[in-house]
Amino acid sequence: MGYVTAEAPTRVELATCVQCGLCLPHCPTFRLTGLETASPRGRLMAMSAVLEGFAEVDDVFVEIIDFCLGCRACEAVCPGLTPYGRVLEGARAEIATQHPTPSRRLRRWVLGRALATRGFVSAATAVAAVVQRLGATWILPAAVRRSFTGLRPLAGRERWIGRSAEPVADPLGTAALLAGCVMDPWFSSVHEATVGLLRRAGYRVVVPEAQTCCGALAAHDGHASEARRMARRNVAAFAGFDLIVADAAGCSAHLKEYGHWAGDVGGAMAERVRDVTEVVAELIADGRLPRSELPRGPVAVQDPCHLRHAQRVVEAPRTILRAAGYEPVEIDQDAMCCGAAGTYAILRPDTSLELGRRKADQVRAAGSTVVASANPGCEMQLRSLLGPAYRVAHPVELYWEAVVEMAGRVPAEVDR
Ligand code: SF4
Ligand code: SF4
Repeated sequence: MGYVTAEAPTRVELATCVQCGLCLPHCPTFRLTGLETASPRGRLMAMSAVLEGFAEVDDVFVEIIDFCLGCRACEAVCPGLTPYGRVLEGARAEIATQHPTPSRRLRRWVLGRALATRGFVSAATAVAAVVQRLGATWILPAAVRRSFTGLRPLAGRERWIGRSAEPVADPLGTAALLAGCVMDPWFSSVHEATVGLLRRAGYRVVVPEAQTCCGALAAHDGHASEARRMARRNVAAFAGFDLIVADAAGCSAHLKEYGHWAGDVGGAMAERVRDVTEVVAELIADGRLPRSELPRGPVAVQDPCHLRHAQRVVEAPRTILRAAGYEPVEIDQDAMCCGAAGTYAILRPDTSLELGRRKADQVRAAGSTVVASANPGCEMQLRSLLGPAYRVAHPVELYWEAVVEMAGRVPAEVDR
């Protein structure tokens, strides 16, 4: 039958792979198994085989594609500029259409509908907070239990969506913040740091009420029509702002691809999107944000795949940490995925755990009990494996603490 949807990998896209194999040593699933079918090249060949009618979207194909983490380490090193992330999403869209198993239908609803519904996320957060407070993780399905232990305390802090804040320096413009589906209720202190820093640099910050989940998790799992619907809603919600900021690397990477998900208007919006680490590092370089001279010791730097591989942002988190007074410590020159990978930790718990343990060992070897990670999934994965002796935080949170401390000496500079 071949492919049946408009999302399918195209011949032009697949032809960019010249099968050189340079990506193989960078691929976590190939490194774990040594199997060609678990490599980027093998997966692209499987996609081509279906396109040319030599294979079907059957159980074998599903296994080859679903074992992929979507980390895009292969894409970052590919000399042929193969758009691996795009064709992977296309292959997953085919699977979701041609293999609509009960699990995939449930995921379509959760990732494509429920996460975009604030009432659902609020209710789920309230239940999760009770489970967390009672320590009753035994009631959770085994697949989500470990990820759950990596959650921050669900403190019921105030959310940011619908709010705005005035600048406390010479005006630079208006920045809009993506609240995110779970960033707002689960990681609100990252938003607090982001809003605080943008205001301190001169931005008026708006968190538009009409926005929704960015759609990354739906897109990665193949639920294309839901991802398009969310993208269109966000394009309308974020119209007219000078700058659009996301403080979860997976979200900023996806917003930058709205040209695919929402056409020309999506492309125009994508040009104004930046990850918070890019923005803050530039504001530090411009002297709009300060540098701390107080040494704070080493910090292990974990590079989220969707920051390093998908957006090619490497130096910015390190610049921010240095400006906070930390000494960044490299933990993994190969920048392998930590195994969180969105829903992968739940769908493929064994592989996720194996990769997570390797990353946790690298952190331990770095000799720092503070870890910086710019993506919530990676943060939860690391916290669940490192335990309470380690602090895992977003780089902008660590920097914001330093800025507030500096402002303590000059109180008028920062209005929290
Ligand atoms: S995906 Fe890129 S790096 Fe990998 S085999 Fe194909 S051309 Fe080579
Ligand atoms: S996205 Fe990651 S896991 Fe998937 S083929 Fe590329 S390097 Fe391998």
